[in-house]
Amino acid sequence: MSKFKPIPTLASGHSGIPERLQAEAKAAKERSYSLKTLPESIPRQKPLKLPPNITQETFDVAITALEKVLIKQAVELNNKPLVDGWYMEHPNTHDAYHVIEQEEMVCSAVVYPSNASEVQSIVKWANEFKIPIYPISMGRNLGYGGAAPRVPGSVVVDLGRNMNKVLNIDEENASCMVEPGVSYFKLYEEVQKTGLPLWIDTPDLGGGSVLGNAIDRGVGYTPYGDHFANHCGMEIVLPNGELLRTGMGAIPGKDGADNPTWTCFQHAFGPSIDGIFSQSNFGIVTKMGFWLMPATEYQSYMITFPREDDFEKIVDIIRPLAVKRILGNVPQLRHAIQELAVTGKPRSHWYSGPGRVTREAIREGLKELPFGNISWVFYGTQYGDQASISSQLALIKVEFGKIPGSKFYLPSDVPADHYLHSRVQVCSGVPVLKELDWLNWKPNAAHLFFSPITPTKSKDARKIHTIIEKLHQNWGFDTFPTLCVAGREMHYIANIVYNRADPDEKSRARGLMREMISAAAKEGFGEYRTHLLFADQVAETYSWNDGALRKFNETIKDALDPNGILAPGRNGIWPRSYRDQGWELIGEKAKDVTKARL
Ligand code: ADP
Repeated sequence: MSKFKPIPTLASGHSGIPERLQAEAKAAKERSYSLKTLPESIPRQKPLKLPPNITQETFDVAITALEKVLIKQAVELNNKPLVDGWYMEHPNTHDAYHVIEQEEMVCSAVVYPSNASEVQSIVKWANEFKIPIYPISMGRNLGYGGAAPRVPGSVVVDLGRNMNKVLNIDEENASCMVEPGVSYFKLYEEVQKTGLPLWIDTPDLGGGSVLGNAIDRGVGYTPYGDHFANHCGMEIVLPNGELLRTGMGAIPGKDGADNPTWTCFQHAFGPSIDGIFSQSNFGIVTKMGFWLMPATEYQSYMITFPREDDFEKIVDIIRPLAVKRILGNVPQLRHAIQELAVTGKPRSHWYSGPGRVTREAIREGLKELPFGNISWVFYGTQYGDQASISSQLALIKVEFGKIPGSKFYLPSDVPADHYLHSRVQVCSGVPVLKELDWLNWKPNAAHLFFSPITPTKSKDARKIHTIIEKLHQNWGFDTFPTLCVAGREMHYIANIVYNRADPDEKSRARGLMREMISAAAKEGFGEYRTHLLFADQVAETYSWNDGALRKFNETIKDALDPNGILAPGRNGIWPRSYRDQGWELIGEKAKDVTKARL
């Protein structure tokens, strides 16, 4: 008998698990809790975190006023013990993967709007009381800050709980329109219910919000893997409370209907503005359209490479294949250590010595797996009819076959529990949970992503890899590189796994991040996305021409949000009233971030 209650399903709530994954989710939860030494919660050490410059008295008045603007009594104070939970039962009050003290980056309250008009009312309320609000869709942005607001004491606007409908699935246009609380799991189930031959695109894990992930410019792995590039149409509540539709949605449809071209054409007349609502704090997105992929035949595969220094050759072979669009999706290049991690077995199973897992231990560990002593693994998928898949694969095999000792595997060549089978699902738009397994690497495991962009050129890729590897060595972390190939560039995702119960490890994880950001920037590399704690430092690296980009963002911020109420500090964009007041966390100041003003 499991000691855990059944995991909430999609039938019981928007953030639940689909029935088809109930057993898998239960096993994943049990595995993660078996390595947990932290209690489920600890009594709060600090009083309720109020918004900056707001007294308890004003806060009480403001909360009463907020309750009145909502149909449902939909405000909760964040005064209960904080619970990190796990992926499927995550908090909306703080970052479950806290990399500073759990109680530092917390909200004062959470509010649950039911529609765009209530979001407008909340925004107007925030302007009246000058209280910062922080919108989340599902809050599963784990590794990048989760549901935590950048300014402690902000009121989190949890859009997902009551705004989670798939509003439309358009068969002919192969598109959909969703609200913020629609997860990949839910969208997939809804498309299945229609019986239409359409695919969604999902990231490695399926619990996140389709809308939230796209505006944070996340990626998936089918040919529609660039989520923001495959959106079409947005509805946004601006910081002054006004409602805006972008693209063709700006033309009123006939008789009050939505414009029928809203999800067909991305742009409107005049400047294309959708981009400024991604990775920003310029508006709250309440609806978003996405293109769906017509279902097709496909073939996933993996290619292994024996030597560490095959890396350069692999990258230079990938580039022309990717640029010519012979590679069908967003393929991944991973290091062999990930083959150990994705088995779900803890680090202690593979290595019990001091310091980082040694190359020798990886070699030994690989003996338990089907591929022998490998160094790199390429996971790809080809799409189309059988004839085109065969011709693409023939080309791919010839090219990678130029690397001595490389080996090509189809899913039928590997055991049923091998990770390749979960890639088959993800790369054909089926959201899964498997990717959680590597989080069992350490007890109380949490992770942070360091995500620089590198040109798909061997020299550049080697340079950033060397920086990352060396600094992981210096700070005592195993290196988990995953290179997601978009074409001319690769998202290098280095995953820092740390033990949440160990303050020293957390401090080293922060130090490692800080040093990687500045070392990479010195060589001209920048991150595509980051945990909110490091956003100021990353934003600062985009400093060309005396920080022209930052100034431009600030000009827009001040024009749209003069009271600075919407997610101050998100992506390093601070409203006027917060600038130069000690909020920015940059470089050395951040060395002891728990003492810095957050
Ligand atoms: P997911 O659960 O898909 O990972 P989150 O809800 O955590 O997504 O959102 C990721 C980040 O994007 C949040 O931290 C928040 O700052 C921003 N965000 C999410 N949803 C919205 C929205 N609807 N409007 C504006 N910003 C949003």
